[in-house]
Amino acid sequence: MRQRVTIMPGERFGGWTVIKEVSPNRWGQTMMLCKCKCGKKCKVGSSVLRRGESSKCVECRRVWIRNNARRLYNFRIESCDD
Ligand SMILES: [Zn+2]
Repeated sequence: MRQRVTIMPGERFGGWTVIKEVSPNRWGQTMMLCKCKCGKKCKVGSSVLRRGESSKCVECRRVWIRNNARRLYNFRIESCDD
């Protein structure tokens, strides 16, 4: 069953702040125009926002991955060390 996801302008999801709802994408998914904390504006699917699958724009994600790659690697090592 499809669940209608209502997101109000001004709601925040991670680094995203919702500006407004825009026209649905070609698959009929509700799309929200969001502003990333870096100032970049992107359209993000409302269900993606709700599930927490997106919290920042592509550029910020790239930076985050670069900054966290080492930490994630160390974590993996630690979690295997029992
Ligand atoms: Zn960004």
